[in-house]
Amino acid sequence: MTMPLMRPKRKNPVLRTQQMNLPPAQRGRVALGITAAAAEGRFELQQCEDCGTVQYPPREACHKCLSARLRWRAQSGEGELCALTTLHHSNDLFFRERLPWRLGLVKLDAGPTLVVHLHGEVGEAPARVRVGARLDRTGQAVLIGFPNEGSPHMADDKMLREMTSDPKFRKVLVTDGKTPVGQALVRALVQAGADIVWVGHAEPWKKTGGLEDITALPQVTLVPLDLTNGRSVTELAGEIGGKVDIVINNAEVHRTFGIGSRRGTDVAKAEMDINYFGLLRLAQEFGPALKGRSADGVTSATAWVNLLSVYALSNFPPHGTFSASKAAAYSLAQCLRAEMRPAGIRVINVFPGPIDDEWNQHMPPPKLAPAGLASAIVKALRDGVEDVYPGDVAQEWLERWRDNPKVLERELAAGG
Ligand SMILES: [Zn+2]
Repeated sequence: MTMPLMRPKRKNPVLRTQQMNLPPAQRGRVALGITAAAAEGRFELQQCEDCGTVQYPPREACHKCLSARLRWRAQSGEGELCALTTLHHSNDLFFRERLPWRLGLVKLDAGPTLVVHLHGEVGEAPARVRVGARLDRTGQAVLIGFPNEGSPHMADDKMLREMTSDPKFRKVLVTDGKTPVGQALVRALVQAGADIVWVGHAEPWKKTGGLEDITALPQVTLVPLDLTNGRSVTELAGEIGGKVDIVINNAEVHRTFGIGSRRGTDVAKAEMDINYFGLLRLAQEFGPALKGRSADGVTSATAWVNLLSVYALSNFPPHGTFSASKAAAYSLAQCLRAEMRPAGIRVINVFPGPIDDEWNQHMPPPKLAPAGLASAIVKALRDGVEDVYPGDVAQEWLERWRDNPKVLERELAAGG
């Protein structure tokens, strides 16, 4: 059984900050298929369309019938642990700092035999295990053998915590506490065991509904933060930038206009100023500090979360300028991900469908409840995924977009 994680001691400020050594990151192009699925929380392997053989390692042609028709398919991961070993020595700096490290050989019920990292609760071989794919600190997929039935503290496993961004005992900044989503996020983070939650408030002198409830929580501190104001962002970064482990940027402006339904550019500018430039200002100020603390042990700086929208994939004309601002933010988030990766900080992009809030009053259901969105974000941190599409609408859009982006564009132009 995994021992529950103990609250770590305060960092000694006199000690040298440890630099992050990343695990080996090179993968061939074919192997990135496992990573693409793991980024969304799935374990997929190639399966031959002709003879049905499941392939591992990934390859260009079926190892049994040489067919080139290999498709990525979700796997249950059920299998038998045949052998295991514990590394006490490694020439790789990442593993050397984290020894001992357990590895196992698993024969999947689906056929292939794999080398996997082993969760601490997996006992001696032979044993039934479930293999899952996770992203390591370089953002590459690794395979992990999990026990068939885990204990309640399973997430505290030392190896697993290296692969995930669990908010437990971590310090989190939520950039906007005024919205129902922001408040639901704060509650979900406190429930997940976050140590401190700083909650941004653009106009702290204004009384806003719901804020009293969350500020009454002992973990929560309200901080002034206006993403449209560079100085406000700089000041807050100067104060708490060196302590934040997870940044969740949920601040957004959302108005329901297309191009012809309103004159001028004021509304579109306000959307861009928060949704795009707000992210840019925040990333410039908080990004470097986060990157410098990614090797701080079990409560290292670990993740950056962007609240985007599924409208970032394809413009939804009734919310046209909002969609455009989220598409811009999505593109910038990809740049942020590329820049944070060498430090081992994970950038998680969240693409919800319509949220049940003020700006989607005219949208028919189903709409995503703020609490549902908040728990999807906490789950994404715990599972260490990169892209999340919470809710039925987002899932359906994603499927249609993957199937054919042009068809989706036409359908949205026609009203959905
Ligand atoms: Zn085949």
